[in-house]
Amino acid sequence: MIKTNFHTHTFRCGHAVGDEQEIVQAAIAANISKLGFSDHVPLPNFRGFLLKGLHSVALSPRGLKTLASNFIFNGPGMRMDYASRTIHQDNVRQLKENHAHQIEIFQGYEAEYFEGYLDYYQELLDNDVDYLILGNHFNSYNSTSCYYGKEKVNDQELYSYCDDVIKALETNLFSYLAHPDLFMIGKVVFDDVAREITYDICKKAKELNIPLEINGGGIRRGKREVLGRYEYPYPSSHFFAIAGEVGNDIILGIDAHAPDELNHGIYEEMLEFASRFDLNIVTEFEFRKGQR
Ligand SMILES: [Zn+2]
Ligand SMILES: [Zn+2]
Repeated sequence: MIKTNFHTHTFRCGHAVGDEQEIVQAAIAANISKLGFSDHVPLPNFRGFLLKGLHSVALSPRGLKTLASNFIFNGPGMRMDYASRTIHQDNVRQLKENHAHQIEIFQGYEAEYFEGYLDYYQELLDNDVDYLILGNHFNSYNSTSCYYGKEKVNDQELYSYCDDVIKALETNLFSYLAHPDLFMIGKVVFDDVAREITYDICKKAKELNIPLEINGGGIRRGKREVLGRYEYPYPSSHFFAIAGEVGNDIILGIDAHAPDELNHGIYEEMLEFASRFDLNIVTEFEFRKGQR
């Protein structure tokens, strides 16, 4: 099986290290034959949008704390600056040419389902990028937005996660769904609601023929004890047992946030995890181009 990775970040998102050149060199050393850059998508006017919703936040100390942390977490340090977009894409284009004899390089971004930015995503696909992957981290992009990977998620947030994913997949803008089981960080125990949304997500992805990702970022977090068993927060064994049953295509994504993560045995650990289930592993996928 060839080794590919379409989930790669650069220092430009503010919480990863390594520039485009260092990443390409690490990917070549790791025997990766196809490499996709998928940094957290730069968004025009994002800071201004983040301030929206301020009026709806109760001005209690707790409300202010949540607001401040959302602003910091969802804002600076979460995604590439819009101004860096051109230089990043130029660098990737240059590396693609220079290393064409060694590795195939693609330009992508990892993006949330933000309704106000879907036209912008379409423009990116029309003009600048090969593909987008859906990383459904946040339910919106203002100061009250909810991070779906937080320590505790309630049922209402789980249903909203599922709704966002399904609406996003239906746009045809996203070529695969990254860490579909991100919500298990805060859900911890795979209960009836988790099962229900897992079936909904897997069935929709199957219907539209969109791969789901086993994510290396969750493996790097290490295992934790849940009801007497040691498990990764994600990839979730419960989630992928259902994906196997539904018959989804599964892709491995290292979700590298540093060049050396491309070659730290994460790929092999993902394969090992995958081998516990009856999964249809794919190493490539159709680049979807939206046009809703
Ligand atoms: Zn990241
Ligand atoms: Zn990512």
